[in-house]
Amino acid sequence: MTKYKLEYIWLDGYKPVPNLRGKTQIKEFDTFPTLEQLPLWGFDGSSTMQAEGRSSDCVLKPVAIYPDPARTNGALVMCEVMMPDGVTPHPTNARATILDDEGTWFGFEQEYFFYQNGRPLGFPEHGYPAPQGPYYTGVGYSNVGDVAREIVEEHLDLCLAAGINHEGINAEVAKGQWEFQIFGKGSKRAADEIWMARYLLQRLTEKYGIDIEYHCKPLGDTDWNGSGMHCNFSTKYMREVGGKAYFEALMAAFEKNLMEHIDVYGPDNDKRLTGKHETAPWNKFSYGVADRGASIRVPHSFIKNDYKGYLEDRRPNSQGDPYQIASIVLKTIAEVPTS
Ligand code: ADP
Ligand code: MN
Ligand code: MN
Ligand code: MN
Ligand code: MN
Repeated sequence: MTKYKLEYIWLDGYKPVPNLRGKTQIKEFDTFPTLEQLPLWGFDGSSTMQAEGRSSDCVLKPVAIYPDPARTNGALVMCEVMMPDGVTPHPTNARATILDDEGTWFGFEQEYFFYQNGRPLGFPEHGYPAPQGPYYTGVGYSNVGDVAREIVEEHLDLCLAAGINHEGINAEVAKGQWEFQIFGKGSKRAADEIWMARYLLQRLTEKYGIDIEYHCKPLGDTDWNGSGMHCNFSTKYMREVGGKAYFEALMAAFEKNLMEHIDVYGPDNDKRLTGKHETAPWNKFSYGVADRGASIRVPHSFIKNDYKGYLEDRRPNSQGDPYQIASIVLKTIAEVPTS
């Protein structure tokens, strides 16, 4: 028997966006445990905005497990928060609101800033560095600094070793801003892995004295880019049947549900979706072929392939909860009849 360090990780009840929480329990197993072998566990919900003080127990239900590459005999355990009965999802449990996940594919592009001493990593103590231009996919000390790439590489290796399905990484448009992409067959899988990758990034940067700034417009109303989390999505029907009429009906449903989407696409998105910096205004739905200034970008391949394939909703921001984002996307898709 081996003693495993099981890090149970969940989302708290903070609004408008939840924070990651985690705590460790030690359990003995013969070999690396499967999800089915992991027990339910509990925590004090009154400390996480998930319960009142008097009856504060919440239940953690394991839903995904990954080896923890940074810990000897460690496991990272993604959990859903349940009511004390262990079967009713807690109101803050957005993962449980994802209904039909069968055959869905999701790819999220997570952008973020490294922050140190209240400003992006690599910014001078006063004022600003040279304007945007060379930083996006850049190389060299003046463009990416002396430590960012080291962290990004270490994070990528941790994620791959944990089995997270990264598709790529790149330096972004603003100094100190980076991106990683995660793809999953099943929106829950993709969203679990985004949260786990965020967890690994935040834990990794503790030792560097660096924070991850997920706010979508940390530099306010300046010429510095904000951060998004584009949501690329497809269903089996979109990939295999599709067609122009279905696509137009789908876009009409997205337009009708504009506010329901914006509500969960991340806080302060009106400051980011201004119509500038490759964004569409937050309060007006639009779509366009290869158009990075539209709410939804339709890839060239989609049109060439008789309106089959995936679409990119460019509105979700870097601070958004991928569970809530996937949930509303699939809800709107479900409103459109397939025939
Ligand atoms: P860009 O920055 O040009 O928007 P990226 O390469 O950063 O492009 O991101 C594209 C995303 O689209 C990737 O996360 C990828 O996994 C995702 N993707 C590709 N094909 C599909 C598909 N059929 N269904 C859902 N997502 C997809
Ligand atoms: Mn205790
Ligand atoms: Mn990208
Ligand atoms: Mn990007
Ligand atoms: Mn994109």
